[in-house]
Amino acid sequence: AAERWYAVVTGANKGIGFETVRQLGCQGVTVVLTARNAERGLEATSKLHQMGLSNCVVFHQLDVLDPLSIQSLVDFVKDKFGRLDILVNNAGASGAVVDEECLRALNIDPTTWLLGKAVNLIQSAMKHTYEKAQECLNTNYYGVKRVTEALLPLLQLSPQGARIVNVSSLRSELKRIPSESIRNELGDVENLTEEKVDAILKRFLHDFKENSLEANGWTMMLPAYSISKATLNAYTRILAKKYQNMYINCVHPGYVNTDINWHTGTMTLEEGAQGPVKLALLPHGSPTGCYFDQTQVAEF
Ligand code: NDP
Repeated sequence: AAERWYAVVTGANKGIGFETVRQLGCQGVTVVLTARNAERGLEATSKLHQMGLSNCVVFHQLDVLDPLSIQSLVDFVKDKFGRLDILVNNAGASGAVVDEECLRALNIDPTTWLLGKAVNLIQSAMKHTYEKAQECLNTNYYGVKRVTEALLPLLQLSPQGARIVNVSSLRSELKRIPSESIRNELGDVENLTEEKVDAILKRFLHDFKENSLEANGWTMMLPAYSISKATLNAYTRILAKKYQNMYINCVHPGYVNTDINWHTGTMTLEEGAQGPVKLALLPHGSPTGCYFDQTQVAEF
């Protein structure tokens, strides 16, 4: 009989994470649906159970900002499965707050969404605070690092070579960073280290505080979000080099209709989860250390 695969998906109470759990469950994978809020997570889990997935979806609480919560998940996976085959780092934060009243006043109609203009319109309703920037880096970059490091011992026990999927974004692409030196640093895969990435993020926060992001060549469109995902991609490449027996990739899921973009996205959840699911189930001999735009390898 074929071996069962065990997976963990972070931030899976809704959106792309939820749909990724559903699609993996439908393929016969045993999935731990995790959420920082237990009530929301249990509700999502019972929804999947009602859809016929009660044999393959279990819930466990996970807040990627909380080391104790991460350790409790590790203990759970270890006791229940003894190893882990798939980790989908999906949980994410936008780094911005939107003024709901402003948003309503914009009165964005669906034809604007389809023309892809909503994201520009929505900019005018967005506020980027230092606190939100910190939370964003702490979730999208350090959160992924914390969860991955804690689960690596169990991922190394996967007999088929574990799959790690980091849900990134189009906003991560290096060509979007105005500063050539930042682009070069993050794109220099031969010499990248976690310490260097850390130093880049410290510089970003410093420049944010000093109000000198633009002057120093950082992306001004969703600044914290963009750099959190660009550094996540860099981390993906560092890990893939270090663990050559695994398949470790990052993916832009597409512009998907979810809460994170205030439902301006044009793709369905079903379409958005296709990339993450494909990378979670990559066959032997597939690429590792790559960036995918939905289901295709693309340039970092
Ligand atoms: P959602 O807002 O629907 O989902 C985000 C999920 O992350 C929620 O479950 C949220 O939990 C969870 N989360 C946030 N912070 C934490 C935390 N500290 N610990 C655990 N979970 C947390 O958005 P999407 O489904 O769109 O986002 C999923 C991923 O896809 C993100 O990484 C996002 O950056 C990425 N992405 C999405 C795009 C899109 O167009 N939708 C485009 C490009 C990338 P809670 O409900 O409790 O807030």
